[in-house]
Amino acid sequence: MRKNFQDVLDSAINQVKMLRQLGVMGLFFLEVDHFEDDGVVAVSDGKKYINVAGYSYLGISQRREISGAVAECASSLGVGSHGSRVIAGTNALHIRLEERLAEIHGKEACAVFNSGTAANLAAVSVLVGKGGIALVDELSHRSILDGARLAKGARVEKFKHNDTEDLKSKLEILLEEDRNILVVCEGVYSMDGDVAPIDDISHVCKTYDVPLMVDEAHSIGVVGATGGGVSEHFSLPPDAIDVKMGTMGKAMPGYGGFICGTREIVDAVRAQGASYFFSGALPAYVMAANLKSLEIAAESPHERMDKLRSSADSLRAKLNAEGLDTGDSQTCIIPVMVGDEMQCYGYAKLCLDKGLWAVPISWPAVPFGEARLRVSISASFTEEHIQKAADILVSAAKEFGVLD
Ligand code: PMP
Repeated sequence: MRKNFQDVLDSAINQVKMLRQLGVMGLFFLEVDHFEDDGVVAVSDGKKYINVAGYSYLGISQRREISGAVAECASSLGVGSHGSRVIAGTNALHIRLEERLAEIHGKEACAVFNSGTAANLAAVSVLVGKGGIALVDELSHRSILDGARLAKGARVEKFKHNDTEDLKSKLEILLEEDRNILVVCEGVYSMDGDVAPIDDISHVCKTYDVPLMVDEAHSIGVVGATGGGVSEHFSLPPDAIDVKMGTMGKAMPGYGGFICGTREIVDAVRAQGASYFFSGALPAYVMAANLKSLEIAAESPHERMDKLRSSADSLRAKLNAEGLDTGDSQTCIIPVMVGDEMQCYGYAKLCLDKGLWAVPISWPAVPFGEARLRVSISASFTEEHIQKAADILVSAAKEFGVLD
């Protein structure tokens, strides 16, 4: 094999090799055979684990109505993709989902993509445009940065995490250039569980007349009285955020991504977003799962969200009372800060041995030296599950020197 090609493979594989040597691959790739207790317990090779690894915040992924809707749809519309959204791939359920999402988020229009990643790639690249500037929160998801890189001659500038003053001063400098600027941030940050000050960020964007796009992958179903996301959390009018992006594959147990905005914005992204029109569409049965998920999420949403919030508060309080650092978490995403990468892997492995599945997060997902166990719970957790999770996290932390 040519040496240059071998070098490329080696550099790509180095981190994986290290994780294999440490024997921690099972943490990332636990082979789940089935779930119990509404997804709270993962069963793998006959062993049960409390599942604080996933993103199924609403805890409705095991609902029979959803799998029933999938089966029924597959029997009438089949299982294929049939082509991209613009070539035979669109069916009535894609349209129904787009109409429903636009209605839920108080926007004129919505476009559904094959994933949240595909939605960000299309929306950010198109809305930043040729030679434009994406001004993004420094902790923004990789797909947002990649979207900006797809726009020819565009560049990425970053403002300090959740820092409205820094956003303002960066905007003042950047507006000296005659370029389009799109501000992009997230609603809730998936590795920290903190809520972005979207009320203030929106105010700054309106003041300087620049559009704001918010990635709500981890805020829809996580914040807001009914799980509506940051607009509901901050009681904002629908036009406070120009483009809302979300995913159907986290709190909602389906798959796909979407953007909501004015018809003109959505049409522009459909017309130019490569990930929209060059990729085979999601099959109809996935849309059936998405639609049914939205229906179930709308049943008793206040009760579900109250339970999620009180369970998260309870777990955070138990961990903090024992001296564990949960950073700036305000939601059901509760990182347990460790710092050192190796210690974090060892800690996660010991938790797994004790029956709790949490994924260690290290560079490049978070800054180097800020490794943490990413713990997230769903609305299906009972107080008993919470207590068990806390006991394991604390006892493993003591044994492994995370806590003195
Ligand atoms: N945005 C954020 C903030 C995410 O965390 C993710 C998924 N990890 C995505 C976008 C991509 O969503 P999807 O998994 O639907 O591609």
